[in-house]
Amino acid sequence: TAPQQPSPTATATHCPYCALQCAMTISKDAEVKPRQFPTNAGGLCQKGWTSAALLDSPARLTTPLVRRAGELRPACWSEALDLVASRLGQLVAEHGPDSVAVFGGGGLTNEKSYLLGKFARVALGTSQIDYNGRFCMSSAAAAGNRAFGVDRGLPFPLTDLAEADAVVLVGANPAETMPPFVQHLRGASTKGGLVVVDPRRTPTAERANLHLAPAPGTDLALALGILHAVVADGLLRESVVAERTTGFDAAWRIAAAYWPERVERITGVSAADQRRVASLLAGARNAYVLTARGAEQHATGADTVSAWINLALALGLPGRPGSGYGCLTGQGNGQGGREHGQKADQLPGYRMITDPAARQHVAAVWGVRPDSLPGPGRSAYELLDALGTDSGPRALLVFGSNVVVSAPHSAHIADRLSTLDFLVTADLVLSETSALADVVFPVTQWAEEDGTMTNLEGRILLRRKAVDPPPGVRTDLEVISDLAARLGQPQDRFPADAETVFEELRAASAGGRADYAGVSYDRLRAGEALYWPVPSESHPGTPRMFLDGFAHPDGKARFVPVDHTGPAERPDPEFPLYAITGRVLPHYQSGAQTRLVDELNSIVSQCHVEVHPDVAARSGLRDGDLALVTSRRGEVAARVRCVDSMRPDVIFLPFHFPAEQRANLLTNPVLDPVSRMPEFKVCAARLTPKDGE
Ligand code: SF4
Repeated sequence: TAPQQPSPTATATHCPYCALQCAMTISKDAEVKPRQFPTNAGGLCQKGWTSAALLDSPARLTTPLVRRAGELRPACWSEALDLVASRLGQLVAEHGPDSVAVFGGGGLTNEKSYLLGKFARVALGTSQIDYNGRFCMSSAAAAGNRAFGVDRGLPFPLTDLAEADAVVLVGANPAETMPPFVQHLRGASTKGGLVVVDPRRTPTAERANLHLAPAPGTDLALALGILHAVVADGLLRESVVAERTTGFDAAWRIAAAYWPERVERITGVSAADQRRVASLLAGARNAYVLTARGAEQHATGADTVSAWINLALALGLPGRPGSGYGCLTGQGNGQGGREHGQKADQLPGYRMITDPAARQHVAAVWGVRPDSLPGPGRSAYELLDALGTDSGPRALLVFGSNVVVSAPHSAHIADRLSTLDFLVTADLVLSETSALADVVFPVTQWAEEDGTMTNLEGRILLRRKAVDPPPGVRTDLEVISDLAARLGQPQDRFPADAETVFEELRAASAGGRADYAGVSYDRLRAGEALYWPVPSESHPGTPRMFLDGFAHPDGKARFVPVDHTGPAERPDPEFPLYAITGRVLPHYQSGAQTRLVDELNSIVSQCHVEVHPDVAARSGLRDGDLALVTSRRGEVAARVRCVDSMRPDVIFLPFHFPAEQRANLLTNPVLDPVSRMPEFKVCAARLTPKDGE
């Protein structure tokens, strides 16, 4: 591990974007260079290389904005803070604390995630807080908690993958979303053991030894078919299943009805390929099953991930050295962001808010009475959907999220935002969401502030201030602290210094599932590789979990019986295609940051729709034409990109673009009943030429 020691000329830090959190240095004059670190091994993708361009973007906000006479106009900090505190205080007094809601983000540092959750529950007293991670990782989190008793994206260091003989990647496209990750797949691919499950032939699928392209929304059935093959072909690890798990019989009763030939009819994946994957995983000394958004973002996302975990358990992979199951987290702090109290149902330390012991512990750290803490609130989409309704919140504070682009059925969400009495955002630039706000606070970003992030392995990383922010901006922590003081909170209850907040976070997380009690800035500055749980300062951290037992009280993992039901919307004569959404290499999430970087935007600057050439021709379209993609919720204008490898029943759109190019105008907000994650990945759509083109 490269020590993260200060250098006279450059500061060791990590990329502002995805969960790989590639290591880099940044000089005082904002020059970025890659840095040796186990996860990126000296690599950066084009987003990382160009990340310094965000710092001096001409689009940066440097003064608060307050809406007057319908227009956002510059204001001084005290005026903006006073206005927000007074409007929120008034709403709470008149309509109760749940009239104010808070929406956070999976890119916020651990400290911001923690202080935002505390601000909502203590300074505002509202139960109405959730965050955009609900859209990204919540199905894997729910499935991991069900199976193992705890959810850490990868319960092993990424470098363990180097020794893998077989890796099955389900709904993951790291060759575009986190390219330096791909080097960790080299071991499996050179041994012929890299399998990619994706309806699309993505750049990752191009590298695979075997690409399975199931019909959208049928990944669960595919996992059942492979599990069936494992059992039928005598590959079940019976002794491991008996000793280390419970619930196999109930899971098998369902999988027994999904023999590979039947699954071939459901998914389109041949029975032979299903058996090939079963035998590949069973025959490998070191084997991994890894899932990502493609498995998760469904109305049955939690069950789909459970089906793949069941397969891994049947083969004895989780808890076996050199093997396992993991989820590839997406957002920069997708892991830490879900551990410290931004979620509607959780308190810091990954504690459930309904657990009396958890409430007691956290209330003691916060210096409040346990019964003063609100209960669980609405999940992200439900919260946004309720805005401005009779029973819903009348004001919303948004930190680190651009929901107008990233939420499903996004025209409806923009409508809901417009009905609010009061919308407040903290933002780097005037994102599509901030453009609707009544007050916008201009805030610092990654290299301009201190903070910690927890990467996709559960390793806690220090991002240190390397450059001065533009005059006029403040940190999110300062904004939260200033607002709390104006709402009558003692100043020392809401500190604005990142390390001081982290010290409190340690105490709040102590004894919880995600235990940071032994992590300190000093240990991180010294370059220690700390993977949670780290229960004490003398504890070395936990790079590999589950070797001695799972986190359920009996130490055993759980099979979860799950059945295939398919997507909520299927093609029909009116909408004959499956539309699926995803990412492209130059852009990150809603594109609010990457669309500002000329070098990235010049590579991809507008939405396109990938389609099989025969389907395009049948629709009266050719490569490069402007098409209209229509679903039951809206329509998107996109340039046609003909791709021979596309399934003829599928079209694909990236979701990073604004206005009429928002792919989320199409997406279906039906929610997974367990994780409350929307079904971003599949809806029914049609493709027509755009009028006049
Ligand atoms: Fe690495 Fe992700 Fe940043 Fe690319 S976006 S440099 S993969 S952390």
